[in-house]
Amino acid sequence: MSNVLLRMALRREHDIFVIRQRGREVAAAVGVEHQDQIRLATALSELGRTLLAVPGGADVAFVAEPGTPPRLVVEIVAGPEAAAVLAGVPVVTAVRRLVDGLETDGGESATRVRLSRRLPIGAAPLTSERIAALREQLAANEPGTPLDELAVQNRELLAALDEVRSQRDELAETNSGVMALYNELSQELEETNRGVVALYNELDEKSAQLKAASEAKSRFLANVSHELRAPVTAVIGLTRLLADSGSDPLTPEQARHVDLIRGSATDLLTLVNDLLDLAKAEAGRLEPTWTEVDLRALFGQLRGTSRAVITRPEVELLVEDPPPGSIVVSDEALLAQVLRNLLTNAIKFTERGTVEMSLRAATGPNDWEIEVSDTGRGIPAELHERIFEEFYQVPGSSTGRTGTGLGLPYARRLVTLLGGFLRMASEPGKGSVFTVVLPRRPAVPASAKRDEG
Ligand code: ADP
Repeated sequence: MSNVLLRMALRREHDIFVIRQRGREVAAAVGVEHQDQIRLATALSELGRTLLAVPGGADVAFVAEPGTPPRLVVEIVAGPEAAAVLAGVPVVTAVRRLVDGLETDGGESATRVRLSRRLPIGAAPLTSERIAALREQLAANEPGTPLDELAVQNRELLAALDEVRSQRDELAETNSGVMALYNELSQELEETNRGVVALYNELDEKSAQLKAASEAKSRFLANVSHELRAPVTAVIGLTRLLADSGSDPLTPEQARHVDLIRGSATDLLTLVNDLLDLAKAEAGRLEPTWTEVDLRALFGQLRGTSRAVITRPEVELLVEDPPPGSIVVSDEALLAQVLRNLLTNAIKFTERGTVEMSLRAATGPNDWEIEVSDTGRGIPAELHERIFEEFYQVPGSSTGRTGTGLGLPYARRLVTLLGGFLRMASEPGKGSVFTVVLPRRPAVPASAKRDEG
């Protein structure tokens, strides 16, 4: 059984209107969407115009194809010359764009052209009953005059123009939406930027305040400790005088009290001196005096003074003799102060074993490493940084020992001032190693160089 819905012939100029009109009519009947009806009708009238030039014209059949997806197919049969005519015409490319499929098959006796357009999802299924009914309905329709078709075409043109206009409006709307979004975003960005700038200003202000506060603290400490030093020294002098054999004899009770006063005043003087040193270093008031320091001589001197500090026979002090000519450009007094401090700590916190000081050429050939190690109590890992804080002492470590908790922070400041850094490694129960890393020739600040010249 044939699925042909309608047949027509293409012989005269007039038939171009008919094929256009019939094409739209059939497409509408099978359920092709409005826009696609116009596309198909346009494709057919363009093809029709071309094929009319072929001798004998063409025969056209509109066929319903119920497959998946269902399609409307237009089969056109023309003379064998049609293939050559169609091949040289740019219209075919345009037509191809208007439909889903366009095939031309140039045979010896005829040229077959097949145009197809899918039916939209939801179109009524093409059953044989429906095809029969459609065939009947289309046969009953009389093709209109060219004038009718012109009117329809005009309406389509107007509709197309309307659509173009509404699309343009839509585009303009989208554009203004995008612009609004863009404006909103850039405004937000600007606000965020302003916020960040304000935050930075605040940070600058805060850090200036912090710096001022820290300077005020150092100034205060320096002044107070300086003012305290004279009276405390006087107290110590007076206790000496009281206990002197040339003075009036004291009762044993009085002598004990004077001893206590002297002991306390001496502790106080140590604290005041440490504070004053630290405050001076922090306030940048310590100007190193740069000279060539002979480390061999310095080690020898420290060996002598540290030996006097050892109170336990179970602790052995080993201060290495560096090779002659081990020179560092530094401030001898400040460097001696740092090393003495480290040696004193090592001796203080070591019950038995050895306290050692040695010199090493560091991995970088421009640095010296001076190592002070001990086999003492060691420091738990979590306190390795804290011991460099002012006044911090490891709990339980200072019982029965003198100390202010200012030694290490001061040592670290001095080493930094001398252009190096202080490093430590320690394990509880095993001992500690403090390492002073110093450049052999530090980049001496300009002001110091001026003094030299
Ligand atoms: P001070 O020695 O006056 O207490 P420091 O700042 O020199 O103050 O040292 C801080 C603390 O670090 C000490 O109280 C001690 O607990 C710990 N410490 C320093 N050196 C050693 C060391 N060689 N071995 C063990 N603990 C140490």
